[in-house]
Amino acid sequence: MPDVKILSKFRTILGPKGYSDETDVIAPWLTDWRGRFTGAAPALLSPANTHEVAAVVKLAAKHRIALVPQGGNSGMVAGATPDKSGQQLILSLRRMNNITAMDAEDGLICCDAGVILQNLHEAAAAIGRRFPLTLGGKGSATVGGLISTNAGGTQVLRHGTMRMLVAGLEAVLPDGSIYDAMAPLKKDNRGYDLKQLLIGAEGTIGIVTKTVLHTVPALIDRCVVWAGVDSPAQAYDLLLFMQRHGRERLEGFEILPQRALNAVTTHIAGTRPPLDTTHGWHALMEFVQDDLGQTPPGELATHLLEKAMNENLLGNATIASSDAQAEAFWKIRDSIAEAERAEGPALQHDISVPVSAMARFIEDESPVIESTYPGTKTLAFGHLGDGNIHFHVKAPTGMDMTSWYEGDGKAITSHVYDRVRAYGGSLSAEHGIGQAKIAEFERLAEPARLAALRAIKNALDPLGIMNPGKLVPLAQTRLSA
Ligand SMILES: Cc1cc2nc3c(=O)[nH]c(=O)nc-3n(C[C@H](O)[C@H](O)[C@H](O)COP(=O)(O)OP(=O)(O)OC[C@H]3O[C@@H](n4cnc5c(N)ncnc54)[C@H](O)[C@@H]3O)c2cc1C
Repeated sequence: MPDVKILSKFRTILGPKGYSDETDVIAPWLTDWRGRFTGAAPALLSPANTHEVAAVVKLAAKHRIALVPQGGNSGMVAGATPDKSGQQLILSLRRMNNITAMDAEDGLICCDAGVILQNLHEAAAAIGRRFPLTLGGKGSATVGGLISTNAGGTQVLRHGTMRMLVAGLEAVLPDGSIYDAMAPLKKDNRGYDLKQLLIGAEGTIGIVTKTVLHTVPALIDRCVVWAGVDSPAQAYDLLLFMQRHGRERLEGFEILPQRALNAVTTHIAGTRPPLDTTHGWHALMEFVQDDLGQTPPGELATHLLEKAMNENLLGNATIASSDAQAEAFWKIRDSIAEAERAEGPALQHDISVPVSAMARFIEDESPVIESTYPGTKTLAFGHLGDGNIHFHVKAPTGMDMTSWYEGDGKAITSHVYDRVRAYGGSLSAEHGIGQAKIAEFERLAEPARLAALRAIKNALDPLGIMNPGKLVPLAQTRLSA
């Protein structure tokens, strides 16, 4: 544990509201969202502004103390969880939660890193705009965490990941200096773009303290469609068709197998199948209208579904007749992980391959895994339109997760990632690397990628105080230098 005299210096910088060494205050922040990693930390630091963050980082650098930046702790790869040494301090951004400026005309919102996504949505709506990134953890995830993981979600098809939505940011670098890139410049060719490096950096080269975000016009209307298809390949053809004919209006395109629908309707109260026919696979689509000049989305969807039906691109389809029904369709999609948990342990892989290869990946790789590891069942669902699915492998019935993981589980995960690599894909599509994927990332990353990543980390954080043990494999820790 760091010297108590040093800890008291952090308390002096932050005051009683910004510093806690009480175990019951710290405890909820020591375990990751999925409950797989638990660490230790002697103090929780909660600065109120950028200058306090800078002072904390300077002090940490002086005494070689590692900091673990943390937002809502909703990340999926344990990136915000300290290690077990008891030497690292959690640096929470949650107190920094002001929305400082909003401009409906240029559509920009300026806010602190600790603003919760749900609150950002509400602030944008209040000025007739929309922040077009949403995900299941929106009640906890903060803007700083979303930036640091380059989060995705269900609207990426049209609006891109967080990277596309950041117009400017401010960060405290590992030496305590403040990097100000808040000006929302459309063009800026001053060489390496540190702002882009900080996006998706998982807190390993600096602490995001503020940002300027793009918003889009508020929705006038939306239309949510549920379609039954034979296979991922047919779903992909349907996706191409819908993109060709409704391109700018198609905001989400998700797929799930009948098995996932069965699991949801069995385990999640209040859900029922949208169609009275069964299909091998299902596609969930959302069409939107955000301009009065556009055809209403219901009309557009009806027209496109008729055409798609004539071209044998789907088996059956239904359009949500109310907002409540639209939400019910989305609830099915959002409840898959929970329903699956009720059926027993599963390995979860957030992977991407080129969009055009995803159907083949699902169709070819699932049976190989199920036959190589008897008793397992694969479940692929998610953002087909982004070439990103959650590829889960359920343990054989009655198997305990810990012993399974230590046996076949690890081999299955390596097998999945090997196949992803063979397709030219990524073992992390939207969740990041954190602690959970660092070993597999190191095993599979191309040498040039690893070398560049380490060089950047070492150049910007030579003392290794920024979230060590996350994202960058085997970065030399020089805390005791
Ligand atoms: C139910 C549910 C559904 C989800 N669905 C999706 C989804 O569809 N798509 C998706 O992409 N993600 C999804 N997520 C994951 C999660 O919401 C994102 O990873 C989110 O971006 C994390 O934000 P956070 O504030 O909770 O960050 P944390 O979990 O606290 O931190 C995440 C990482 O960012 C770093 N960090 C946090 N704040 C800062 C900062 N200010 N400066 C520097 N580094 C920082 C941390 O050190 C850590 O490495 C989901 C999560 C849940 C719980």
